Amino acid sequence: MTEVLIALGGNVGDVRQTFGRAIPTICGMAQAGLLARSSDYQTPAWGNEEQPPFINACILIDTDLDPHALLFSLHKVEKKFGRDRAKETHWGPRTLDLDILAYGDERIDQPGLTIPHPRLFERAFVLVPLAEIAPDRVIGSQTAREVLKNLSVEGISRLPDRN
Ligand code: ADP
Ligand code: MG
Repeated sequence: MTEVLIALGGNVGDVRQTFGRAIPTICGMAQAGLLARSSDYQTPAWGNEEQPPFINACILIDTDLDPHALLFSLHKVEKKFGRDRAKETHWGPRTLDLDILAYGDERIDQPGLTIPHPRLFERAFVLVPLAEIAPDRVIGSQTAREVLKNLSVEGISRLPDRN
């Protein structure tokens, strides 16, 4: 079993409900155990700012799937929850984005898969939920807690639990 950190994001539809259904779907598909789940956060849209704010969260799972099989499963889950990559613009609105932040301590640098996720440490909207569940996990050579000291978290707010 390998511990894997996955970032969730979306800004179309009832994203929190999508997360609530997508997480067990991921665990089912990846035969994975859910070890931790962050709160949901509302975060300003990034890259292309003319779109609704995003909801972001982060989970820690353990799985036997290899990284490529896991990415394939995550793409299937994105599709199941309404994502249509053919119709979207780069960094534009989407129902569900699932990114592998870290896969154990592996480093992978291939055209379709880079681990640790290359933009992780530039993105407060990923680091804030990550820091809630794994503040001191060394990813590459950095931790979310340390990097967040030098990054603006303006506009990011933790949403109250929704039961
Ligand atoms: P982004 O997540 O950067 O907003 P997309 O979700 O459209 O953009 O992903 C673009 C491509 O990034 C995917 O087709 C996928 O193959 C690739 N990719 C590379 N590394 C990763 C990773 N660690 N996790 C998820 N996708 C990745
Ligand atoms: Mg993605």
